[in-house]
Amino acid sequence: MAAVDNAVNIAIVGSCNTDLISYVPRLPKPGETIHGTKFSVGFGGKGANQCVMAARLGVKVAMVSKVGDDSFGHDTIKNFQTNNVNTNHVSMTKEAATGVAPITVNTEGQNSIVIVSGANMLITEDDAKSALSQMPDLKVVICQLEISPHTSLAAMKYAKEKGILTIFNPAPAIPELDSQFYKYADIFCPNETETELLTGLPVTNITEAEKAALALLDKGCSKVVITLGTQGSVVVTSETRKAIHIPTNKVKAIDTTGAGDAFIGSLAYYLAHYPALPLEECIKRASHIASVSVCGAGTQTSFPWKKDLPSELF
Ligand code: ATP
Repeated sequence: MAAVDNAVNIAIVGSCNTDLISYVPRLPKPGETIHGTKFSVGFGGKGANQCVMAARLGVKVAMVSKVGDDSFGHDTIKNFQTNNVNTNHVSMTKEAATGVAPITVNTEGQNSIVIVSGANMLITEDDAKSALSQMPDLKVVICQLEISPHTSLAAMKYAKEKGILTIFNPAPAIPELDSQFYKYADIFCPNETETELLTGLPVTNITEAEKAALALLDKGCSKVVITLGTQGSVVVTSETRKAIHIPTNKVKAIDTTGAGDAFIGSLAYYLAHYPALPLEECIKRASHIASVSVCGAGTQTSFPWKKDLPSELF
């Protein structure tokens, strides 16, 4: 019989990638070889980022994912363990390599990115359901679209049937999203560009975001949270159909990569840990944490730990 993962409150069914970042004077032309000035390796993948953020706030989090039996896969698992993430459901496969994202950044900050999903695409519906079934204390499940959409949908459907709250981050967005995603997401959480792609409406300001949020409700969601970078976020529920704007902190941003993941991981923490806290307050606190993350360089490297955050957030 499979072991039971008692006390896990949040599970992320999603992607793990290794970011391989080369800094270059200019982006190479086809067929050209150039010298870079710096290289760094970072842990990434939307699923892994959201998982690490939630874990750093002190809640028991499990990652449900697949990596290759290679050095990146082993390092990814070690990184989760350093961040107090339960890795019982991160399996290794010989069928594909760990997901990687080789990124080239020029001196103007422009980049070119190749994502090779590899093992991420091998997480099956059964892997997801079997992992979630071993977590009796689960309160929140988070899914995105960097793995097979069928697997994300199966995980959300399973969670919803068990009365577990689901957060869906439709990233990267696909225009023809299966309508069941709207139904099985308790909280549907896209950013501006994802919202534009899903609704066909422009989202450049709060008024436009409010209209787009209502359009997402009409597709079958019950709660929508659209993140808007420095403009904060907009939330609307099917009960009131009245969009509310929640501003974020004014900060001196250094690197906004991963702000959305910091926001979602933190939101899941508040929903799991403080079930009586109103959604607006959970969003306000998650925005605060995301605003701290943009003040540091890198993705996971900029995510704060609970001990580094003001006590009024807890
Ligand atoms: P990314 O793709 O870079 O991970 P995203 O586009 O998914 O990010 P954003 O909407 O940019 O997500 O950011 C998520 C939340 O983080 C925002 O709703 C806001 O609360 C906070 N945030 C992002 N950028 C800033 C910033 N420059 N200053 C303050 N808060 C920010």
